[in-house]
Amino acid sequence: MRSVVCMKAVPSTTEVRMDPKTNTIIRDGRQSVANPFDTAALEVALALKDELGGRVSVLSMGIPDTCRLLRDAIARGADDALLLSDRAFAGADTLATSYTLSMGLDELGDADLVLCGKMAVDGDTAQIGPELGGILGVPCVTGVSEVLEASDHRVVVRHDTDEGTEVAEVPLPAVLTVTKDIATLRMPSIAGVRAAAGAEVRVLDAATLGADPACCGLAGSPTQVVRSFVPERSHEAATIAGTPAEQAAALLEVFEEVAR
Ligand code: FAD
Repeated sequence: MRSVVCMKAVPSTTEVRMDPKTNTIIRDGRQSVANPFDTAALEVALALKDELGGRVSVLSMGIPDTCRLLRDAIARGADDALLLSDRAFAGADTLATSYTLSMGLDELGDADLVLCGKMAVDGDTAQIGPELGGILGVPCVTGVSEVLEASDHRVVVRHDTDEGTEVAEVPLPAVLTVTKDIATLRMPSIAGVRAAAGAEVRVLDAATLGADPACCGLAGSPTQVVRSFVPERSHEAATIAGTPAEQAAALLEVFEEVAR
């Protein structure tokens, strides 16, 4: 089984700083961690490798500091890692991100299985997995909570739906997005830490990747985040007295005030 795990570096706290000009997160790497959904995806890939053999690669688009997280993934059992890093990729929306990641998948060569987290805890759109499936022209199953069977040409998975859960048989190659609870990432082994210390994390910029600058970063993003802000937290509390009708009228006034 040849699998690729897409791993995003996300801020480790909710206290993030936004760039006022581009309304994107200032990703300076100081407090970034691997997106929790993606560490679960990595464990699924490693467990499939234990069962079926093969190779696990980790792919990320991010700032150079992301190498730290990719090296940690190697310490936990991934065979290799590729980081796509270039100022041209900055500010990407999900369309530009999935285009860039698809170029990285081309670079890594044919994968039987591309594993993504169901969503990234910062952007939280849950769009990348399905977009990768569309670009690659392969099936994509989202919200996978259990892998029931796996072979080199198909997997049988349980996944979340709006009504509950469903079992799906998926021909490979395919893209799966997984829930956070599907697995807990194993600890790094001593041998893994040693291997990671000497491992090369390949870093490719847009030119080396052969990416079309018009499809990357802010330039390749038809959608822009207009405004993101950390909501002010206030602890004032007010009690609205009166009859239910009076309370409803007073509450409506509060909502109208907030919406102004
Ligand atoms: P999701 O689709 O939520 O991530 C799903 C999975 O895709 C991840 O678990 C991971 O496996 C993989 N993945 C995602 N990004 C990467 C990466 N850089 N490297 C490797 N794997 C990755 N963009 C929009 O197009 N529309 C929006 O409405 C939007 N809103 C945003 C709001 C906020 C607060 C922020 C910070 C960003 C927003 N963005 C939006 C930008 C978006 O975060 C980026 O496009 C991002 O690179 C992918 O989107 P996502 O984080 O929502 O990923």
